Amino acid sequence: MSALTLEGVAKRFGSLVAVDNVSLTVLKGTFVCLLGPSGCGKTTLLRLIAGLEAPSAGRILLDGTDVTGLPTHRRDFGMVFQSLALFPHLNVRDNIAYPLRIRGAAKTEWESRVGELLELVHLQDHGERPVSRLSGGQRQRVAIARALAVSPRLFLLDEPLSALDAKLREAMQVELRQLQQKLGITTIVVTHDQREAMTMADLVVVMGNGRIHQAAAPVDIYRKPANAFVADFIGSTNLLDIAADGSGRALFDGVPLPGVTLPAGVGRARLSIRPEDVRLTAPETAALTGRVTFLRDLGGTVETFVEAADTTIVAVSTRRERVRAAAGDPIGIQLPAEACVVLTR
Ligand code: ATP
Repeated sequence: MSALTLEGVAKRFGSLVAVDNVSLTVLKGTFVCLLGPSGCGKTTLLRLIAGLEAPSAGRILLDGTDVTGLPTHRRDFGMVFQSLALFPHLNVRDNIAYPLRIRGAAKTEWESRVGELLELVHLQDHGERPVSRLSGGQRQRVAIARALAVSPRLFLLDEPLSALDAKLREAMQVELRQLQQKLGITTIVVTHDQREAMTMADLVVVMGNGRIHQAAAPVDIYRKPANAFVADFIGSTNLLDIAADGSGRALFDGVPLPGVTLPAGVGRARLSIRPEDVRLTAPETAALTGRVTFLRDLGGTVETFVEAADTTIVAVSTRRERVRAAAGDPIGIQLPAEACVVLTR
Protein backbone atom coordinates (compact mmCIF):
# COMPACT_ATOMS: atom_id res chain seq x y z
CA MET A 1 0.00 0.00 0.00
CA SER A 2 1.31 3.43 -0.84
CA ALA A 3 1.76 5.78 2.10
CA LEU A 4 2.45 8.85 0.01
CA THR A 5 1.59 9.76 -3.56
CA LEU A 6 2.69 12.91 -5.33
CA GLU A 7 0.79 13.71 -8.52
CA GLY A 8 2.28 16.34 -10.81
CA VAL A 9 3.42 18.48 -7.89
CA ALA A 10 5.00 21.82 -8.81
CA LYS A 11 6.18 24.86 -6.89
CA ARG A 12 6.99 28.21 -8.44
CA PHE A 13 8.55 31.16 -6.63
CA GLY A 14 7.78 34.01 -9.06
CA SER A 15 9.34 32.95 -12.35
CA LEU A 16 11.57 30.32 -10.71
CA VAL A 17 10.35 26.73 -10.94
CA ALA A 18 11.74 25.08 -7.79
CA VAL A 19 9.77 21.83 -8.17
CA ASP A 20 8.65 20.85 -11.63
CA ASN A 21 5.83 18.35 -12.16
CA VAL A 22 6.99 15.73 -9.68
CA SER A 23 5.12 12.44 -9.43
CA LEU A 24 6.19 9.77 -6.98
CA THR A 25 4.70 6.82 -5.13
CA VAL A 26 6.17 5.83 -1.78
CA LEU A 27 5.16 2.48 -0.31
CA LYS A 28 4.49 2.10 3.40
CA GLY A 29 7.60 1.49 5.49
CA THR A 30 9.98 2.74 2.80
CA PHE A 31 13.06 4.82 3.54
CA VAL A 32 13.34 7.44 0.80
CA CYS A 33 16.28 9.78 0.20
CA LEU A 34 15.78 12.90 -1.89
CA LEU A 35 19.21 13.43 -3.38
CA GLY A 36 20.59 16.07 -5.68
CA PRO A 37 22.90 19.04 -6.05
CA SER A 38 22.36 22.31 -4.21
CA GLY A 39 19.32 24.21 -5.39
CA CYS A 40 17.68 21.26 -7.17
CA GLY A 41 14.48 21.58 -5.13
CA LYS A 42 14.88 18.83 -2.50
CA THR A 43 14.03 20.98 0.49
CA THR A 44 11.14 22.61 -1.31
CA LEU A 45 9.72 19.18 -2.17
CA LEU A 46 10.04 18.08 1.47
CA ARG A 47 8.35 21.28 2.62
CA LEU A 48 5.52 20.67 0.17
CA ILE A 49 5.06 17.16 1.55
CA ALA A 50 5.13 18.58 5.09
CA GLY A 51 2.53 21.21 4.23
CA LEU A 52 4.93 24.06 4.99
CA GLU A 53 4.54 25.25 1.39
CA ALA A 54 1.45 25.11 -0.80
CA PRO A 55 2.02 23.59 -4.25
CA SER A 56 1.44 25.72 -7.35
CA ALA A 57 0.03 22.62 -9.05
CA GLY A 58 -0.58 18.94 -8.34
CA ARG A 59 -1.91 16.81 -5.50
CA ILE A 60 -0.45 15.14 -2.44
CA LEU A 61 -2.16 12.00 -1.17
CA LEU A 62 -1.57 10.31 2.15
CA ASP A 63 -2.82 6.73 2.43
CA GLY A 64 -5.04 7.51 -0.54
CA THR A 65 -6.55 10.68 0.95
CA ASP A 66 -5.91 14.08 -0.62
CA VAL A 67 -4.05 16.21 1.96
CA THR A 68 -2.94 18.98 -0.43
CA GLY A 69 -4.87 21.65 1.46
CA LEU A 70 -4.41 20.22 4.95
CA PRO A 71 -2.33 22.40 7.32
CA THR A 72 0.94 20.98 8.66
CA HIS A 73 -0.26 20.41 12.22
CA ARG A 74 -3.12 18.23 10.99
CA ARG A 75 -0.90 15.92 8.91
CA ASP A 76 0.57 14.10 11.93
CA PHE A 77 4.10 14.08 10.57
CA GLY A 78 7.32 13.98 12.55
CA MET A 79 9.93 16.43 11.33
CA VAL A 80 13.61 17.01 11.97
CA PHE A 81 15.37 19.93 10.37
CA GLN A 82 19.03 20.75 10.08
CA SER A 83 18.75 23.30 12.88
CA LEU A 84 17.07 20.68 15.14
CA ALA A 85 15.18 23.49 16.94
CA LEU A 86 15.47 21.91 20.39
CA PHE A 87 14.56 23.97 23.44
CA PRO A 88 17.97 24.78 24.95
CA HIS A 89 16.64 25.56 28.43
CA LEU A 90 14.82 22.22 28.73
CA ASN A 91 16.34 18.87 29.56
CA VAL A 92 16.23 15.87 27.26
CA ARG A 93 13.09 14.39 28.79
CA ASP A 94 11.12 17.64 28.56
CA ASN A 95 12.21 18.24 24.98
CA ILE A 96 10.92 14.81 23.96
CA ALA A 97 7.76 15.17 26.04
CA TYR A 98 6.89 18.56 24.55
CA PRO A 99 4.75 17.42 21.59
CA LEU A 100 2.89 14.96 23.83
CA ARG A 101 2.18 17.55 26.48
CA ILE A 102 0.87 20.18 24.08
CA ARG A 103 -1.51 17.52 22.82
CA GLY A 104 -2.78 17.13 26.34
CA ALA A 105 -1.39 13.65 27.10
CA ALA A 106 -1.74 12.63 30.75
CA LYS A 107 1.46 12.64 32.82
CA THR A 108 1.58 8.87 33.24
CA GLU A 109 1.09 8.45 29.51
CA TRP A 110 3.80 10.82 28.37
CA GLU A 111 6.23 9.68 31.00
CA SER A 112 6.05 6.10 29.84
CA ARG A 113 6.25 7.11 26.16
CA VAL A 114 9.30 9.29 26.82
CA GLY A 115 10.90 6.36 28.65
CA GLU A 116 10.41 4.18 25.56
CA LEU A 117 11.78 6.84 23.26
CA LEU A 118 14.84 7.47 25.42
CA GLU A 119 15.63 3.80 25.17
CA LEU A 120 14.97 3.74 21.46
CA VAL A 121 17.60 6.42 20.84
CA HIS A 122 19.99 5.12 23.53
CA LEU A 123 19.68 8.11 25.84
CA GLN A 124 18.07 6.41 28.83
CA ASP A 125 20.81 7.72 31.13
CA HIS A 126 20.59 11.30 29.88
CA GLY A 127 16.95 12.20 30.50
CA GLU A 128 17.68 14.89 33.06
CA ARG A 129 20.54 16.50 31.20
CA PRO A 130 20.01 19.95 29.62
CA VAL A 131 20.26 19.64 25.85
CA SER A 132 22.90 22.39 25.90
CA ARG A 133 25.21 19.85 27.57
CA LEU A 134 24.90 17.14 24.92
CA SER A 135 27.18 16.23 22.04
CA GLY A 136 26.06 16.85 18.46
CA GLY A 137 25.09 13.22 17.96
CA GLN A 138 23.13 13.12 21.20
CA ARG A 139 21.23 16.27 20.26
CA GLN A 140 20.43 14.68 16.96
CA ARG A 141 18.92 11.72 18.77
CA VAL A 142 16.82 13.98 20.99
CA ALA A 143 15.42 15.69 17.90
CA ILE A 144 14.63 12.30 16.36
CA ALA A 145 12.96 11.02 19.54
CA ARG A 146 10.90 14.20 19.81
CA ALA A 147 9.76 13.89 16.20
CA LEU A 148 8.74 10.27 16.83
CA ALA A 149 6.93 10.99 20.10
CA VAL A 150 3.47 11.15 18.57
CA SER A 151 3.97 8.09 16.29
CA PRO A 152 3.88 10.10 13.07
CA ARG A 153 2.37 8.80 9.85
CA LEU A 154 5.39 10.08 7.98
CA PHE A 155 8.86 10.91 9.25
CA LEU A 156 10.50 13.82 7.39
CA LEU A 157 14.10 14.91 7.85
CA ASP A 158 15.97 17.74 6.09
CA GLU A 159 19.75 17.22 6.06
CA PRO A 160 19.53 15.97 9.64
CA LEU A 161 23.15 14.85 9.89
CA SER A 162 24.93 17.58 7.99
CA ALA A 163 26.22 19.40 11.07
CA LEU A 164 28.01 16.30 12.38
CA ASP A 165 31.61 15.39 11.64
CA ALA A 166 32.19 12.68 9.05
CA LYS A 167 32.71 9.78 11.45
CA LEU A 168 29.72 10.52 13.65
CA ARG A 169 27.59 11.13 10.58
CA GLU A 170 28.35 7.64 9.25
CA ALA A 171 27.51 6.10 12.61
CA MET A 172 24.25 8.06 12.79
CA GLN A 173 23.30 7.01 9.26
CA VAL A 174 23.43 3.39 10.32
CA GLU A 175 21.59 4.18 13.54
CA LEU A 176 18.83 6.08 11.77
CA ARG A 177 18.37 3.30 9.25
CA GLN A 178 18.17 0.66 11.99
CA LEU A 179 15.69 2.75 13.95
CA GLN A 180 13.52 3.22 10.87
CA GLN A 181 13.56 -0.51 10.14
CA LYS A 182 12.67 -1.34 13.72
CA LEU A 183 9.68 1.02 13.65
CA GLY A 184 8.76 0.36 10.02
CA ILE A 185 7.98 4.04 9.64
CA THR A 186 7.77 5.65 6.20
CA THR A 187 10.67 8.09 6.14
CA ILE A 188 11.82 10.79 3.73
CA VAL A 189 15.24 12.34 4.14
CA VAL A 190 16.77 15.19 2.15
CA THR A 191 20.48 14.88 1.56
CA HIS A 192 23.08 16.04 -0.93
CA ASP A 193 25.44 13.27 0.17
CA GLN A 194 25.17 10.29 -2.13
CA ARG A 195 26.98 7.96 0.26
CA GLU A 196 24.44 8.83 2.91
CA ALA A 197 21.60 8.11 0.50
CA MET A 198 23.13 4.80 -0.59
CA THR A 199 23.62 3.76 3.06
CA MET A 200 20.12 4.45 4.27
CA ALA A 201 17.59 4.37 1.47
CA ASP A 202 15.32 1.74 -0.01
CA LEU A 203 14.43 4.29 -2.66
CA VAL A 204 16.82 6.98 -3.87
CA VAL A 205 15.15 9.86 -5.67
CA VAL A 206 17.72 11.74 -7.73
CA MET A 207 16.64 15.31 -8.45
CA GLY A 208 18.06 17.97 -10.73
CA ASN A 209 16.50 21.29 -11.74
CA GLY A 210 13.32 20.61 -9.80
CA ARG A 211 12.65 17.33 -11.59
CA ILE A 212 13.05 13.69 -10.67
CA HIS A 213 15.68 12.14 -12.92
CA GLN A 214 15.39 8.67 -11.42
CA ALA A 215 13.72 6.98 -8.46
CA ALA A 216 15.08 3.50 -7.80
CA ALA A 217 16.89 1.25 -5.35
CA PRO A 218 20.47 2.36 -4.60
CA VAL A 219 22.04 -0.53 -6.51
CA ASP A 220 19.95 0.26 -9.61
CA ILE A 221 20.75 3.96 -9.41
CA TYR A 222 24.42 3.01 -9.46
CA ARG A 223 24.30 0.14 -11.94
CA LYS A 224 21.51 1.31 -14.23
CA PRO A 225 21.50 5.11 -14.22
CA ALA A 226 18.60 6.45 -16.27
CA ASN A 227 20.56 9.25 -17.88
CA ALA A 228 23.91 11.00 -17.98
CA PHE A 229 22.94 13.34 -15.12
CA VAL A 230 22.37 10.43 -12.74
CA ALA A 231 25.41 8.49 -13.98
CA ASP A 232 27.62 11.49 -13.39
CA PHE A 233 26.08 12.55 -10.08
CA ILE A 234 26.20 9.12 -8.42
CA GLY A 235 29.76 7.97 -7.91
CA SER A 236 32.18 8.63 -10.71
CA THR A 237 31.74 7.32 -14.18
CA ASN A 238 33.24 7.45 -17.65
CA LEU A 239 30.99 8.93 -20.32
CA LEU A 240 31.95 8.02 -23.90
CA ASP A 241 30.34 9.27 -27.10
CA ILE A 242 29.29 6.25 -29.12
CA ALA A 243 27.68 5.75 -32.52
CA ALA A 244 25.73 2.90 -34.11
CA ASP A 245 27.04 0.93 -37.08
CA GLY A 246 24.56 -0.18 -39.77
CA SER A 247 23.22 -2.93 -37.48
CA GLY A 248 22.91 -0.87 -34.28
CA ARG A 249 26.14 -2.13 -32.75
CA ALA A 250 28.11 0.41 -30.76
CA LEU A 251 31.29 1.99 -32.07
CA PHE A 252 33.63 4.16 -30.04
CA ASP A 253 36.00 6.13 -32.26
CA GLY A 254 35.10 3.70 -35.04
CA VAL A 255 36.08 0.65 -32.97
CA PRO A 256 33.31 -1.92 -32.33
CA LEU A 257 32.43 -2.52 -28.67
CA PRO A 258 31.51 -6.21 -28.48
CA GLY A 259 28.05 -6.88 -27.03
CA VAL A 260 27.00 -3.20 -26.77
CA THR A 261 24.10 -2.04 -28.92
CA LEU A 262 22.11 1.16 -29.34
CA PRO A 263 18.31 1.14 -29.35
CA ALA A 264 16.74 0.82 -32.81
CA GLY A 265 16.75 4.09 -34.70
CA VAL A 266 19.27 5.78 -32.39
CA GLY A 267 22.44 6.86 -34.19
CA ARG A 268 24.36 8.43 -31.34
CA ALA A 269 24.37 7.96 -27.59
CA ARG A 270 26.61 8.03 -24.59
CA LEU A 271 28.02 5.06 -22.82
CA SER A 272 28.52 5.07 -19.07
CA ILE A 273 30.99 2.68 -17.50
CA ARG A 274 32.28 2.82 -13.93
CA PRO A 275 36.06 3.12 -13.46
CA GLU A 276 36.18 -0.16 -11.55
CA ASP A 277 34.65 -1.96 -14.54
CA VAL A 278 37.19 -0.78 -17.12
CA ARG A 279 39.82 -3.44 -17.84
CA LEU A 280 43.29 -2.46 -18.97
CA THR A 281 45.38 -4.94 -20.93
CA ALA A 282 48.49 -5.11 -23.06
CA PRO A 283 47.83 -2.97 -26.17
CA GLU A 284 48.29 -5.81 -28.66
CA THR A 285 45.46 -7.82 -27.06
CA ALA A 286 42.72 -5.17 -27.37
CA ALA A 287 40.84 -3.64 -30.30
CA LEU A 288 40.55 -0.35 -28.44
CA THR A 289 43.76 1.29 -27.35
CA GLY A 290 44.79 4.53 -25.70
CA ARG A 291 47.70 6.16 -23.97
CA VAL A 292 48.27 6.38 -20.24
CA THR A 293 48.36 10.03 -19.16
CA PHE A 294 48.42 9.79 -15.37
CA LEU A 295 48.57 7.25 -12.58
CA ARG A 296 47.28 7.79 -9.08
CA ASP A 297 48.28 5.24 -6.48
CA LEU A 298 45.81 5.50 -3.60
CA GLY A 299 47.35 2.69 -1.56
CA GLY A 300 44.57 0.12 -1.84
CA THR A 301 43.67 0.94 -5.43
CA VAL A 302 45.32 2.44 -8.46
CA GLU A 303 43.63 4.91 -10.81
CA THR A 304 44.89 4.95 -14.36
CA PHE A 305 43.93 7.82 -16.66
CA VAL A 306 43.93 6.83 -20.30
CA GLU A 307 43.43 9.13 -23.29
CA ALA A 308 41.56 7.58 -26.20
CA ALA A 309 39.92 9.54 -29.03
CA ASP A 310 40.07 12.83 -27.10
CA THR A 311 38.29 11.19 -24.17
CA THR A 312 39.82 10.53 -20.78
CA ILE A 313 38.89 7.09 -19.51
CA VAL A 314 39.62 6.35 -15.87
CA ALA A 315 40.21 2.78 -14.73
CA VAL A 316 40.40 1.76 -11.09
CA SER A 317 42.12 -1.50 -10.26
CA THR A 318 43.36 -3.19 -7.16
CA ARG A 319 47.11 -3.30 -6.78
CA ARG A 320 47.06 -6.99 -7.65
CA GLU A 321 45.15 -6.73 -10.92
CA ARG A 322 46.79 -3.59 -12.22
CA VAL A 323 48.70 -3.60 -15.48
CA ARG A 324 52.24 -2.31 -15.20
CA ALA A 325 52.27 0.85 -17.25
CA ALA A 326 53.73 4.32 -16.97
CA ALA A 327 52.53 7.69 -18.21
CA GLY A 328 53.02 7.84 -21.97
CA ASP A 329 52.68 4.06 -22.54
CA PRO A 330 50.14 2.68 -25.00
CA ILE A 331 47.54 0.46 -23.34
CA GLY A 332 44.60 -1.78 -24.30
CA ILE A 333 41.11 -0.93 -23.03
CA GLN A 334 38.32 -3.44 -22.57
CA LEU A 335 34.79 -2.35 -21.75
CA PRO A 336 32.86 -5.44 -20.61
CA ALA A 337 29.39 -5.27 -22.17
CA GLU A 338 27.61 -6.21 -18.94
CA ALA A 339 29.04 -3.11 -17.22
CA CYS A 340 28.17 -0.73 -20.07
CA VAL A 341 25.03 1.40 -19.83
CA VAL A 342 23.90 3.07 -23.05
CA LEU A 343 22.35 6.46 -22.32
CA THR A 344 20.17 8.13 -24.86
CA ARG A 345 19.18 11.07 -22.64
P1 ATP B 1 20.23 22.89 -0.91
O1 ATP B 1 20.82 21.51 -0.98
O2 ATP B 1 21.22 23.95 -1.27
O3 ATP B 1 19.47 23.16 0.35
P2 ATP B 1 17.76 22.26 -2.34
O4 ATP B 1 17.93 21.22 -3.40
O5 ATP B 1 17.18 21.86 -1.06
O6 ATP B 1 19.16 22.98 -2.12
P3 ATP B 1 15.69 24.24 -2.45
O7 ATP B 1 16.04 24.84 -1.14
O8 ATP B 1 14.48 23.42 -2.53
O9 ATP B 1 16.93 23.41 -3.02
O10 ATP B 1 15.59 25.41 -3.51
C1 ATP B 1 15.24 25.22 -4.88
C2 ATP B 1 15.23 26.55 -5.58
O11 ATP B 1 14.13 27.33 -5.10
C3 ATP B 1 16.46 27.37 -5.34
O12 ATP B 1 16.76 28.05 -6.54
C4 ATP B 1 16.04 28.35 -4.25
O13 ATP B 1 16.78 29.54 -4.33
C5 ATP B 1 14.57 28.56 -4.56
N1 ATP B 1 13.76 28.85 -3.37
C6 ATP B 1 13.58 28.06 -2.31
N2 ATP B 1 12.75 28.61 -1.41
C7 ATP B 1 12.39 29.82 -1.92
C8 ATP B 1 11.56 30.91 -1.46
N3 ATP B 1 10.90 30.83 -0.30
N4 ATP B 1 11.45 31.97 -2.26
C9 ATP B 1 12.09 32.05 -3.44
N5 ATP B 1 12.89 31.09 -3.93
C10 ATP B 1 13.05 30.00 -3.19
